[in-house]
Amino acid sequence: MIHTEHWFFWLFVALYFLHLVVEISLDLLNLKELKRNQNRIPPLFAGRFSKTEYENSIRYTRSKIHFSWVKATFDVAVLWLAIMFGGFYYVDVWLGNLLPTYPLAHQVAYPLVIGGISLLLHLPFGIYFQFGLEEKFGFNRMSWGIFLTDQIKTIVIALILGIPLLALIFSLVQWLGAWWWLGAWGAMMLFQLMTAALFPVVLAPLFYKFTPLEPGELKDRIYQLAQKIRFKMAGIYTIDGSKRSAHSNAFFAGIGKTRRIVLFDTLVENLTHDQIVAVLAHEMGHNVKKHILKGLVISTVLSLAGFYLLSLCLNWPPFFSTFGVPTPSLQVGFVLFGLLSSVFTFPLNPFMKWLSRKNEYESDAFSVAVTKDKASMKEALVNLSKDNLSNLTPHPFYSFYHYSHPTTTERVTAIEAIPLAN
Ligand SMILES: [Zn+2]
Repeated sequence: MIHTEHWFFWLFVALYFLHLVVEISLDLLNLKELKRNQNRIPPLFAGRFSKTEYENSIRYTRSKIHFSWVKATFDVAVLWLAIMFGGFYYVDVWLGNLLPTYPLAHQVAYPLVIGGISLLLHLPFGIYFQFGLEEKFGFNRMSWGIFLTDQIKTIVIALILGIPLLALIFSLVQWLGAWWWLGAWGAMMLFQLMTAALFPVVLAPLFYKFTPLEPGELKDRIYQLAQKIRFKMAGIYTIDGSKRSAHSNAFFAGIGKTRRIVLFDTLVENLTHDQIVAVLAHEMGHNVKKHILKGLVISTVLSLAGFYLLSLCLNWPPFFSTFGVPTPSLQVGFVLFGLLSSVFTFPLNPFMKWLSRKNEYESDAFSVAVTKDKASMKEALVNLSKDNLSNLTPHPFYSFYHYSHPTTTERVTAIEAIPLAN
C-alpha cells in the first residue's frame, strides 16, 4: 500500500522524525535542567515556595513530560500503521459503499469519522490525564459525571457546527471550480468570527456558569481601569472553573457587543484585588497594543496560504500515495492536510512563540504603566506559577521553542527594569 518511490514521501519521513527528535531532545534538556536545580529554589521564589511546593512543581513537570512521551509513542504508532496499511483510504472506501448515492454526505462524514476514531483512541489518555496525573497533584476537581457530559457536549457541538461548515466548504469546491480555495477561506473566516462572537454567550455557558461580578470594590476598580484606557466591554463575569480544575485563569472572550472579561473563581480566591487589576490591565494591554488584531491578520494570511496549498495538494497524486491512498479524493486530502501539515510548518513554531513572548512583555509594561504598580503584577505572576505548579527552571532552549509566555523570572526581571515616571 505504501509508496516509497517518490521524493515527497522521504521528505515527509525526514521532517516527521526530525520534528520528533527536536521535541525529545528539548524534553531531555528540560529534565536535565530540573535535576540540576532540584535542590535550590530560584532566588525569585525563595520564601514564596515551600520546599514541598517546589518539589511538587518538579514532580508535576516531570510527570507531564513522561505522559507526553507515552502519548507521542502511541500517536507515532497509530499514524504509521494507518499509513502503511492504507487506513485513511479504507475508511473512505467503506463510507463510499455505505453512502453510494449521497456524495456530499460521504464527503462530510469522512472527516467526522476520522475525528471520531481519533477521539476514541485518545479518550484513555484524557481520562488518565484528568483522573490520574491532575488528580495526583490536587488539580482535578472534576467528577466522572462532569467529565462524561463534557465529552458528550463537545461532540454534539462539533457536529452542530462542523456538519454545515464541511457541507458548505465541499459544495464550494463544486461551485467555484479552480477558485474554491478562496471561497472556502472566506467561509472559514466568517465561521471563526461567528464562533468567537458566540463563544461567551452560547458555547462557554454550556460548560461553565457565568455570574456577573458582584458590585463592590473590585468591580469598581476594573471599570475605572477600563474607562481610563477607553476599553469597551460588555460586563465582567466570574465562572465556576473550580468545578473542574484548581488551575486559575482570566481572559477576554467575544467580539464587539459580546466582549467581556471572564475571571475564574479560583483566580478571584487566590489573588488580591490589586493583583487582579494588574492581570486585567495586562489583558487589556493585548487589545490596546493591537496584539489581537495582529494575531488575527497573521492567522488570516496563514490560513489563506493553507487553503491555496491544499488546493495544489489535492491535484497532486504523490501527496496521496505518500499516505497510503492510491487515488486522490477531496475529503481524504482535507483530512491528511489538516492532520499532517504541522510536520512541514513546525520550524515556524519558535518564531510564532517569540512573537507571542514579545507581546507578553509589551502587555506587562502596559499594565505597569497604567496601574503604576509593579509589585502587584510581580506578585500576581509568582502566585500564578505557584498555584499552577509551573516549572520554575525550564531549559532556555525549551522555553525558546515552546513557551508562548516568557518565564516568570524573565517577566519579573523585565518588570523591575521598567522606568516608572510618576
Ligand atoms: Zn498576556
